Amino acid sequence: MTLISFKCYTLYGDFMEKLIMIKYGELTTKKANRKVFINTLTKNIENILKDIDNKIIKDRVRMYIYSNNIDEVTKRLKKVFGLHSIVIAYKVDTNISEIQNISLEQVKNYKTFKVETKRADKNFPIHSMDFNRQIGGYILKNSDLKVDVHNPEVLLNIEIRCEGTFIYTNEIKGIGGYPVGIQGKGLLMLSGGIDSPVAGYLALKRGVDIECMYFESPPHTSIEAKNKVIKLASIINEYSGHIKVHVVPFTKIQEEIYKNVPDSYIITIMRRMMYRIAVNYALKNKMKVIINGESIGQVASQTLTSMSVINNVTNMPIIRPVACMDKLEIIDLAKKINTYDTSILPYEDCCTIFLPKHPVINPDLDKCLLYESYFDYEKLIDDTLENIEIITNLKEEEFDDYL
Ligand code: ATP
Ligand code: MG
Repeated sequence: MTLISFKCYTLYGDFMEKLIMIKYGELTTKKANRKVFINTLTKNIENILKDIDNKIIKDRVRMYIYSNNIDEVTKRLKKVFGLHSIVIAYKVDTNISEIQNISLEQVKNYKTFKVETKRADKNFPIHSMDFNRQIGGYILKNSDLKVDVHNPEVLLNIEIRCEGTFIYTNEIKGIGGYPVGIQGKGLLMLSGGIDSPVAGYLALKRGVDIECMYFESPPHTSIEAKNKVIKLASIINEYSGHIKVHVVPFTKIQEEIYKNVPDSYIITIMRRMMYRIAVNYALKNKMKVIINGESIGQVASQTLTSMSVINNVTNMPIIRPVACMDKLEIIDLAKKINTYDTSILPYEDCCTIFLPKHPVINPDLDKCLLYESYFDYEKLIDDTLENIEIITNLKEEEFDDYL
């Protein structure tokens, strides 16, 4: 890491620093866990900035990031969960003439303004309201600007803290949520559809670190279908930074199901097998929950009866972040997080290829158990678990060529 100085001089010869100030999100309400929250958040930010010169300083209420590439850092921070807002600020010593000069500099190109002072350092002798008036008066005297307290063109924020005074005019809203990893790890069943990437995003947002599992059935499913899933994983990886994809060779199990199970129960049994594999793998790899993109009533395997019969193979919690969302709501979110265009590419998934004409809507558990006794699925599952391919280092561009 190179040693860098982020200090610079203003037009007036004052000493100031341009930096990013972070206001923490929901985590500030969880007083007991604050330390863990802030440390996880710091680790996540260090990870996404590891290829950029930067210096991070943090305390209980704020984090400060110095960098020579503030624009790129800001762009990346917009995808970090746990941030209430990202502020590009100027830091000066708490000295009235310096504060006046930088304040004027910040607002001079606008027509109307309002000053809002926060006095976190109670040793500072002037009260916030009085200081608003003092700085406002200085700006009025030295420019053509006018005060508008209700609808100002620019809001000038002045935060007087023990470590210095921070002056800023633009506060960018963060994406909120909890820092990824604060809740431990879950396994996302990631298909190439619209729902499961959105489910993954929502789980990450609540602080669940995820790894992805994809069931492929070559030659019935194509390499394009697999690359599409990897691409989707790489898009949601922008919110995590270290997602892996576990690719399960599912062909043999699917073919056995197809041979032994009546048509209408194929999907139900297939999904019970997927759950068994996912749970087994999750337990071995210290993951606490399974996450998937099931949505109540969307297809035959997602009626409440179907879901409960499928869920019956495990006690592990299954989190379904989009269970109660309308398809249109899910699509809106998929567009927002940039997975939609990839999800709608046409390559077929194993569920679509083996889809029967009339899948059962209210499956019966005893029938499932009977059909499953027709073949040695436990041995097949053991073999499958031995042959899972793990894909790490997801780089979105690398998969574009294959789609
Ligand atoms: P999506 O739900 O992601 O839009 P889909 O609607 O085609 O895809 P469904 O058949 O509705 O998928 O399956 C419901 C959920 O089961 C998926 O959201 C996903 O979590 C999981 N799933 C289905 N197929 C696969 C697969 N091949 N690999 C991994 N998970 C899968
Ligand atoms: Mg679906």
